[in-house]
Amino acid sequence: MVALKIENVWKYYGDTVAVRDLNLECDDGEFVCMLGPSGCGKSSTMRMLAGLEHISSGDILLGDRRINDLAPKDRDIAMVFENYALYPHKTVAENIGNPLRLAKVAKHEIRKRVQEAADLLEIGHLLDRKPMELSGGQKQRVAIGRVIVRQPQIYLFDEPIAHLDAKLRARMRSELKHLQQHLGVTTVYVTHDQLEALSMADRIAVMHEGVLQQFGTPAEIYSNP
Ligand code: ADP
Ligand code: ADP
Repeated sequence: MVALKIENVWKYYGDTVAVRDLNLECDDGEFVCMLGPSGCGKSSTMRMLAGLEHISSGDILLGDRRINDLAPKDRDIAMVFENYALYPHKTVAENIGNPLRLAKVAKHEIRKRVQEAADLLEIGHLLDRKPMELSGGQKQRVAIGRVIVRQPQIYLFDEPIAHLDAKLRARMRSELKHLQQHLGVTTVYVTHDQLEALSMADRIAVMHEGVLQQFGTPAEIYSNP
């Protein structure tokens, strides 16, 4: 079953064409990596999926529902950003629970879901800390927790571990992949790192200058670079 579909999507910024007639689909529970160098249109695509950027033309479908005009909070799609974007004055628990608070979920339910997400990410003991009291890897987990807690239909990750050192990156790659398989949530994951894409993806979308050049399994992409 197709969970997410991008149909003939274009993105212009003035005269710059950032995304050219993109067609892409993700199956239910699939982990798709969008791979390509800086400036190839990865972030623009993610921002359009999240509803943070207007689509110049084309359609985005969630299941069989067209979501082009839905506000980010109404999309059932949640995004983890490269820079974490944590609230510095809030605790870990408040950061993770913030989307639920905004959605007016009952307090006891928020507490329960925050604890579950934090335990899953092994930061259950850090709930009272502030972001500045955390390591890079821990901050990243909080940012992921804030997405998991919403239980969205789709996860978007925009270079989520690019800031971490090589050793921690390798560990987070494998943890993220396990988590995604465990939760079975359809995921689009942006990276400029070919190894990362090859090691994590079910399918890889290779982008170049706003154009989708290849879309296939790691084996297909690797044997036909
Ligand atoms: P990537 O995420 O692959 O680095 P982006 O989607 O950020 O690529 O950028 C694709 C192209 O669109 C680039 O040429 C970039 O300079 C341009 N671009 C991205 N965001 C904006 C913006 N807000 N205004 C103007 N041009 C932009
Ligand atoms: P609101 O939705 O309450 O109007 P804003 O539009 O000001 O809030 O900001 C977007 C959301 O992010 C807000 O709902 C607010 O709760 C949250 N937010 C923004 N800044 C902070 C902060 N420093 N601490 C906690 N939450 C914040």
